[in-house]
Amino acid sequence: MQRKEKILQILESTDNQIIDFMNKASKYRENNLITYSKNIFIPLTEICKNDCGYCNFKKTPDDPNAIILKTKEEVLASLKEAEKYGCSEALFTFGEDADEEESVQQKLAEFGYENIVDYVFDICKMTLEETSLLPHTNGGNFSYESLKKLKEVNASMGMMLESTSVRLMNTVAHNKSPGKNPEIRLKTISNAGKLKIPYTTGILIGIGETKEEIADSLLAIRDLYDKYGHIQEVIIQNFTTSPGIEMENWEEPTFLDMVRTVIAGKLLFRDTDVSIQVPPNLNHDTAQIFLLCGADDWGGVSPVSPDYVNPTSPWPTLDELNRLTQDAGFELIERMCVYEKYVNDKWLNETLLEKIANLS
Ligand code: SF4
Repeated sequence: MQRKEKILQILESTDNQIIDFMNKASKYRENNLITYSKNIFIPLTEICKNDCGYCNFKKTPDDPNAIILKTKEEVLASLKEAEKYGCSEALFTFGEDADEEESVQQKLAEFGYENIVDYVFDICKMTLEETSLLPHTNGGNFSYESLKKLKEVNASMGMMLESTSVRLMNTVAHNKSPGKNPEIRLKTISNAGKLKIPYTTGILIGIGETKEEIADSLLAIRDLYDKYGHIQEVIIQNFTTSPGIEMENWEEPTFLDMVRTVIAGKLLFRDTDVSIQVPPNLNHDTAQIFLLCGADDWGGVSPVSPDYVNPTSPWPTLDELNRLTQDAGFELIERMCVYEKYVNDKWLNETLLEKIANLS
């Protein structure tokens, strides 16, 4: 049977079939460790050129509460706070191509920069030089040249693929989001591979995609991994609704849809050491079951900042995460934003390697 048919069989399974697949997926574990990264989430700007129907992050420049562009001083103060909590990852997330917006351009000019990539580069450099944290940038699509520049000051980078569905570009999910064009996103992830950037990506389910499109999205990530070996983890994220978003009245994916997709992801990557990640804050009451489906990473969890992308879904405390993990029969351990297997001179430059050696 072809790989796609096998994935579809899992995604369409019901009743005891699901239990059988769950048992199968849970067997492909090297150990009983569940990882997480202790991070601080810093939204450098909330301005974004896209306008996704499920977005909970983007603000418009006329919103008095919008972060147009954080100053270096503000960022450094947050990083110093994160140091006190023992965070190891500085997650810089921001809207895509924010510097196409006049208000951001003005701020950049005020700070002495021409574009957001140069500014992010200096923010990451400052993080490496003045704090104990490792930068991980997630700002959507970047050109090859921009990725090449940012690689020098990032331990790892990431961007959700979301979906390979071109059809979704004509639906409420993505019809105002040119950056969600799957061709462009796959190119960004592929360029990250060519540049040997340890990379995090994943899919978002429940935004109107079909099961076949979920299978295609997972397979596209697997193909990129096979080609470049740079995918360190695959996030399986569920759409969650919240007041005020365009898709406010959409139905969320069912619990079993998440179960099936996590199993499918695990079985597709069973012969690799790619982690399967499920965000615990979006699955408060059900998170534990995904560990039994083969998930082995909780992703970034912050003791100091909210999840700005999902502000209505607070992260569990680390004590709570530990309790949930142990209760399911596993052991919680902290990891860096870059996975150990990439900590060598094939993937990271000398500065980053030295920094990581000092942290260890
Ligand atoms: S989900 Fe991301 S890309 Fe889409 S509008 Fe929001 S910030 Fe922009």
